[in-house]
Amino acid sequence: MTKRSYVTVNPCIMCQPMGSALAFKGIENTMVLYHGSQGCSTYMRLHLAHHFREPVDIASSSLSEKGAVYGGRENLKKGLRNVINRYNPKVIGVATTCLAETIGDDVPAIIREFKEEEGIGDDPEKDIIIISVSTPSYGESHVSGYIKALEAVVRKFAENQGEERAIKIPNGKLNLIPVESLSPADVREIKEILEATAENYIFLPDISETFDAPLRDDLPKIAPGGTSISEIADMPNSRASLGLGIVSKNLALEYLEGYYGVPGQSVPIPIGLSNTDNFFTELVNIFGCPIPDKYQAERGRLLDAMVDVHKYLYGVKAAVYGDPDLVFSLTTFMLELGMHPVLVATGSKSRDFGMKIRQIFKEIRPELEPMVLDGIDFDSLNDAVSDCNPDILIGNSNGRYIAKARDVPLVRVGLPIHDRVGAQRILTVGYKGSLELLDRITNTILEATDTFTAPVQAEPAAYASQGTEEECME
Ligand code: SF4
Repeated sequence: MTKRSYVTVNPCIMCQPMGSALAFKGIENTMVLYHGSQGCSTYMRLHLAHHFREPVDIASSSLSEKGAVYGGRENLKKGLRNVINRYNPKVIGVATTCLAETIGDDVPAIIREFKEEEGIGDDPEKDIIIISVSTPSYGESHVSGYIKALEAVVRKFAENQGEERAIKIPNGKLNLIPVESLSPADVREIKEILEATAENYIFLPDISETFDAPLRDDLPKIAPGGTSISEIADMPNSRASLGLGIVSKNLALEYLEGYYGVPGQSVPIPIGLSNTDNFFTELVNIFGCPIPDKYQAERGRLLDAMVDVHKYLYGVKAAVYGDPDLVFSLTTFMLELGMHPVLVATGSKSRDFGMKIRQIFKEIRPELEPMVLDGIDFDSLNDAVSDCNPDILIGNSNGRYIAKARDVPLVRVGLPIHDRVGAQRILTVGYKGSLELLDRITNTILEATDTFTAPVQAEPAAYASQGTEEECME
């Protein structure tokens, strides 16, 4: 039985401001500033830099004991001035950390004061836009930090249109707003699919270049790429919004629907056959476009591979953990593959997680009864793994200690992946990404135990009588 712990030991989530950085860094010419103690910024910069293998600059208002007692107003203003002077950004995303929230700094008021002092207006054409978001980590996780920051960005640019916002100029575009779990390679793949189907779209946030930039002679202070400001301002004029992820809320999508009447719909992250089918079906419904031959062929290849590896994967017991929507889509795919997800867990506290996971089991494999946990830390995950005894772990690299201690192989998916290179290039979405994931899972299982290969690759009898390696060398 998994024990209930009253303290968090080794959390299975990351800090809330880090999620905001994942969102802000997908916007063109944007710099992030954390209002709080310096260690928060150092830890999160390192965390993201180790995962994406890119320089990740995040400024800090560096509150000291004095700031903690008397308030961080002057530190924040000084930090904003430094960021403007050194980085010359178009947008500054200000996220609070635990300390700033605990002392109760009124960040929007300080920013208003700063803008008045510096003569900064609200015109995105000529002014620096400063967007604040409240992200104390004692409340929620990086998942909510990302969601809140995206909503704040969309709200800010929509509101900045002032009176004109009432005059809707339809642009015929699709707003694509994913959850936090996509890699730069995933974003590139989805953009490619959109170019072949929807053509006119706005992808927010676009981290395809900002977190996976080509090497160049001059190293710009802010990585090029990201969703442009004019595109974000145009989102209220789009014909529809499509969210990727159905477990976590998509506040940006809900805001666009509630305030601007942009119809919004969310589908699971397109990992696996049915989830990718759903994604394409939604594009067909919105745009009436045919599914290009290229993707029909990719679907066929995925199906072919699923048949090929069924004999290796059927009944393999898996434990999957990570961000709620990523775990949902991975679990769906494993059920399609005939695997047995015995443990399905997320570190985020989520009311809908258990319900959605049980629903997908009911639809695909009603006879299975998984252990489903939310809000867990790695200590409880370790206990649960011990109870469920899986053959394989699927999740981020922070579960490697459990994998090592229990001698269970780990397929690394999600964020963070610190102990391997290439996290920014791991593709899991679409038929192509699902196929790559399928190969990784299958090969990990084949490598972990020869019992899987023995029935199909018995050593030919002729080789067995060839003598030992030493004898052959003589
Ligand atoms: S838990 Fe709070 S104080 Fe600690 S690193 Fe995260 S944001 Fe900073």
